[in-house]
Amino acid sequence: MLDFFILSFNIHVMSPAHNIYIHVPFCISKCNYCAFFSRAIAPDWESYKNQILSEVDFWHNKLGRVNVPTIFFGGGTPSLMPTNIFADIINHIAKKFDLSNCSEITLESNPGTLDTQKLDDFIKSGMSRLSVGVQSFDDNELKFLGRRHDAKCAKKLLDIAMQKNIRVSADFIYGLPNHNVQNVINLCNQINKIGLQHASLYELTIEKNTPFGRMNLNMPNNDTMADMYLAIQDNIKLPRYEVSNYAARDNHCKHNENIWDGAPYIGLGHGARGRVFMDGVWFEQSGGDIKFNAIDDTTRAIEKLMTGLRTMRGATIDNDIKNVLDFDFINSHNALVKIDGDKIYATDAGILILDDLLVDILR
Ligand code: SF4
Repeated sequence: MLDFFILSFNIHVMSPAHNIYIHVPFCISKCNYCAFFSRAIAPDWESYKNQILSEVDFWHNKLGRVNVPTIFFGGGTPSLMPTNIFADIINHIAKKFDLSNCSEITLESNPGTLDTQKLDDFIKSGMSRLSVGVQSFDDNELKFLGRRHDAKCAKKLLDIAMQKNIRVSADFIYGLPNHNVQNVINLCNQINKIGLQHASLYELTIEKNTPFGRMNLNMPNNDTMADMYLAIQDNIKLPRYEVSNYAARDNHCKHNENIWDGAPYIGLGHGARGRVFMDGVWFEQSGGDIKFNAIDDTTRAIEKLMTGLRTMRGATIDNDIKNVLDFDFINSHNALVKIDGDKIYATDAGILILDDLLVDILR
């Protein structure tokens, strides 16, 4: 019994910090392009909460009272959540884990689901960063995408949120059928005018089993998509810090940066995925039914390269990553990929062909 106690105690002391991602898989309706794990239902929030709390307990028992640097509520539409449910989840996490160094609690939201009172209540309960799914400032485009809000509603939420003492980000989609470079320039100009300090701009991708996947859409060709991507960097007044993310200094999403850097994280709730590090071993992990399987160091090294190379600061070349890299290829393709000290990063030209590049740099 004493041995068991000592063993458990040692594992807890050795467990590193873990970020927490909480999936909220509910929306008012489904957007035409959406392949995310979410359902258009009004959930029983008490049972959702109890599920999350039981998963928190499970991982507390496995990892001990580990440090949690960031928490991210993603969806779905987390802003639909009643604020008392959000507060109960945060308070429970605070009981089971160490939040003394937690520097960011993000809530994803959609316009039309938050008023000033609800926003204030989320902030009172610990939310420090709001991510708003704006997608477009054009009402016809919003309708086409199947969004529930219009541009006025989105601007109002951004306006309210930016007056609060929190960090605010907004998501946008470009590359809609018949879009050209001028559409992207107009979007960047509006982002600049509003004064957003963080924006994520994603290219529209057509997924099977979505309404768009069943339509024969006239999408921009690859060259136009590449030109639009380059136009973002030329026109948005925010530095790019990841393939699709732009932010002023000190406004990066710390949660995502930690994940891209290869830090461990726990995924809670159906549809969540995590990478847990226990007792010197990496585990791929999913929320909801609490499954976890060990993954080998090579698999994890490739994952870290995939996410790290998407960032402007690159991936840190640790021993595992060193073992999978083809240094001959890298040294002869410096126009695409470079090594600087212990970092490997893709150049502007490399970023445009990142999927192919990742295959080429592996041994
Ligand atoms: S709000 Fe987001 S998660 Fe919900 S259906 Fe639309 S794109 Fe999907």
